[in-house]
Amino acid sequence: MSSPMSAATTPQPSDKNLVAGIRPDRLAALAARAADDYRAARPRCFAADLGAGSPFLDAVPMHWMRDWPMPVPMLVAEATGATLTDIDGNRLDDFCLGDTGSMFGHSPAPVAEAIRAQAARGLTYMLPTEAAQRAGNLLSHVFGDFKWQIATTATDANRFALRAARAVTGRPKVLVFDGCYHGTVDDAMVTLEGGRTVSRPGLVGQITDLSTLASAAIFNDLASVEAALATGEIAAILTEPVMTNSCMVLPAPGFLEGLRDLATRYDALLIHDETHTISSGLGGYTRTHGLSPDIFVVGKCVAGGLPTAVWGLAPDVAERFLRAYRAKPAGHSGMGTTLSANPLQFAALEATLGQVMTPENYARMNAGAERLAAGLAAAIAAHDLPWHVVNVGARVEFICAPGPLNNGAEAAAAHRPDLERAIHLALVTRGCLIAPFHNMMLVSPVTSDAQIDRLIAAFDEILTELTQ
Ligand code: PMP
Repeated sequence: MSSPMSAATTPQPSDKNLVAGIRPDRLAALAARAADDYRAARPRCFAADLGAGSPFLDAVPMHWMRDWPMPVPMLVAEATGATLTDIDGNRLDDFCLGDTGSMFGHSPAPVAEAIRAQAARGLTYMLPTEAAQRAGNLLSHVFGDFKWQIATTATDANRFALRAARAVTGRPKVLVFDGCYHGTVDDAMVTLEGGRTVSRPGLVGQITDLSTLASAAIFNDLASVEAALATGEIAAILTEPVMTNSCMVLPAPGFLEGLRDLATRYDALLIHDETHTISSGLGGYTRTHGLSPDIFVVGKCVAGGLPTAVWGLAPDVAERFLRAYRAKPAGHSGMGTTLSANPLQFAALEATLGQVMTPENYARMNAGAERLAAGLAAAIAAHDLPWHVVNVGARVEFICAPGPLNNGAEAAAAHRPDLERAIHLALVTRGCLIAPFHNMMLVSPVTSDAQIDRLIAAFDEILTELTQ
């Protein structure tokens, strides 16, 4: 269930220099101490950092490995359950869990076994297996009555879902929410500037004016959604049920139902991207809250961490899509990738959906997340800071600003990057890993209460350093 947890909401000392209630000199001291502690504990990670001599562009194999708060990347030796060990032998309680890819723990036993068995029988052949059919049935059983396709990343699944929506409606644009993230989907890379939709300023190598492909609206503001729909240009509303990529912005009561009504009224399709909100419970936020999108997308952890994503069309939309698809000349449809729907994915999907993504595991995750959220909120309250905590099922986030937040602009204004980086690094040096992009923590079915309590204690200790 979703629940904003309240903490102190009144900034206290009148000092104008405070950042989210914290004195800058305290913040600088914490950041410096954490960097020193990190360096002292990781000689091998420092030695492995080749800088300009690295074979990788900017010395990392994926550019956002630079976004972590560590002075040099932490090289991982292994990860099991909810614990990660680096090459210097430091063990960390992992609450990042691959930013949801490993939300059910690292290498869940049934998934590892299914991958092992399939690996002996071929990795990819562009033909289905019997496991594919069983996985398809499990997808419908877990997520609802949709006609499924398999992709390799949630980015791809969203791109294909948007193609399907444009094919079905014959309209050009997608409506997304200011502050959203749906993967590196160009069509969704817009933001609001002075009420106008513009391309995101950070995009690299993007020369198209993305406002020709997308309209940005304001989350929790149905009037802004209706204004965009009224142009008649919108093929689909693409939304997360909870905005999880700019802090965590919960939907106001009736907002998601309102989106459904508006999409129907204006003949647009409604796409739920559940890639993060799969934390909500079995079947994602959609099923947990009895919602009915036209297209359902989920990736990351759906096959236990093996690169896999799925997108499904509601049966009536599937019929309309197939009519549009079959009316085209045969040839390149612009959808699909060679390695998608490979047998390894089906083996992992079947194992995850059948044995890992279970009501019992969700119950454990939710209970752990509630314990974590309550502990963090208590620490914030004890230090009288103007921060708050939100949790959505297994997903917990602390936000260094008062809450609740209502939309992307409020969420963007709530970020305190320097403070957040210092806290993240100070947590690492205390053996706790949280997500690098914002203050997100996931509780897996194998995360122990002891791990949760260690994170709460480390957070409390850091707040003490920052405030006393
Ligand atoms: N949708 C949402 C809501 C996401 O947060 C992300 C990634 N964080 C994606 C899609 C894209 O996932 P991937 O990077 O695995 O393609």
